[in-house]
Order: sequence, then C-alpha cells, then structure tokens
Amino acid sequence: MRKPLIAANWKMYKTPDESLAFLREFLPLVKDHTRDDIAIFPTMSSLAYVIGACKDHHVDVGAQTMHWLNEGPYTGQTSPTMLASIGCDHILLGHSERRIYANETDDMVNWKLKAALAHGLVPIVCVGESLEKRQSGLTEAVLRWQISCALNGIKASIPCSITIAYEPVWAIGTGSSATPAQVGEAHQIIRREVAARLGQECADDTRVIYGGSVKPDNIATFMAEEEIDGALVGGASLDPHSFADIVRYKE
Ligand code: PGA
Repeated sequence: MRKPLIAANWKMYKTPDESLAFLREFLPLVKDHTRDDIAIFPTMSSLAYVIGACKDHHVDVGAQTMHWLNEGPYTGQTSPTMLASIGCDHILLGHSERRIYANETDDMVNWKLKAALAHGLVPIVCVGESLEKRQSGLTEAVLRWQISCALNGIKASIPCSITIAYEPVWAIGTGSSATPAQVGEAHQIIRREVAARLGQECADDTRVIYGGSVKPDNIATFMAEEEIDGALVGGASLDPHSFADIVRYKE
C-alpha cells in the first residue's frame, strides 16, 4: 500500500561533474527497478544538472533545504518557487545537521513544510533524538514533539505526500545504526503522532523511512520490518554501486 522510498542524501559532497559521473554509473544499474521509489538529494550547485540527467529516468530529485518564503532579501537562500521552477520535486526538511549547524528550529520546519505543500514539493521531514535524549528515556517525547510541531496547522490529505524520516542523531554517519527493533518502535511512535494530528487514514498513508548508517549489508534487515517504508542514506549513497546495491537489496 505504501510504496517504499530509497533516498540518497549527498550532503556537502560532489561537484556537478562528480554528480553526473555518479549518475552515468548508477542510472543503468537501476533502470528496471520499479519496486521502490528512488530519490537523490544533491548539493544546490549540482541540483539543476542532476535534475536534467534524471529527467527521463524514474529517479526523483530534491534539494537538501530551502527557505519558506518565495523571495526576499535573504542572502544565500533558495525559495520553494525557485526549486519548483527548475523541476525539483522533493525537499528534505529539518535534517539534524541543519538543526544543529544552521540553527533550524521546529517552527522553521513547520513553515517550510507548509511552503513545500503549497508549491507541490514532496517533503521528507527528518526527526530523531540525540544520544543524550535516548539515554534519558526521552526518545518518545522528542519524536512526538518534533512531529507535532512540524505538522502544526497542516491539513490531512489523501494521498498523503508527506514522508517522515526517522534519523536518530547518534546513528548518523557513525557506522553504528539503530537496530531494526529500535527503528520499528520509533516508527510506531511517529505514526501514532501523525494519526493524532492528521487522522488514522492519513497516518496509514504516510511513509516513514529510516536513516542512520544504512549500508548494503544492513538494508534488508530494515526493510523486513513492516513499519519501515524505506531509507534515507548518507555515506553509503555516495558510491553508485553501493547505492544501487541498497536500492536493489533483494534482487
Ligand atoms: P548516514 O547519513 O547514512 O551517513 O548515516 C544519513 C543521513 O544523514 O541522512
């Protein structure tokens, strides 16, 4: 019922030339793959090139961040209108690296989510607890807070275009992922909170994906969990063969 999504978050890696070199190898490897949706989130400077190269392939492309307003005196920012105008169809919101290094707040994530929906961009909203919060037994409280803030004032719609990425901060880029059981439990908390905000029907339709040290050798264990609808992959998405192995985990 929920089509899985396997997404690559390239963070601040790859020049346009390197991005295109990746795609020359990657696209043929997944050309017959229709079981999952595939999306790539390159840097802003590679975005238009990657959109052009993926145009006739079933690979979606998104930006890693955006502003919530359409235009204005905001040096360094890119607006939803600008992204949509170059054919960008997805947007990553509230990644923990944005929350930590760019001071992105829960309110900003909410404003951006509203802007994304208004402009027809498919949003992936990232949530996740720090190690400190997990060790203090606050995982559920953090997840429920982040979800409720992000969805504040959002109306339910079916189909629900919002994807939530559960990314525990302690599992990102550390090589030690959460266990499938920990992820399954977190995803249930997330879906319950979405149901409380947007209703059960919308919650049942919302994809909840996992991110945090996903690799070719652990993707299958995550995807075996009923609650896990895909993955957001950082480090292991930078190599075309590694990312293709993740996309094609059961083939
Ligand atoms: P990682 O990053 O796969 O390198 O842990 C995931 C992410 O930050 O989205």
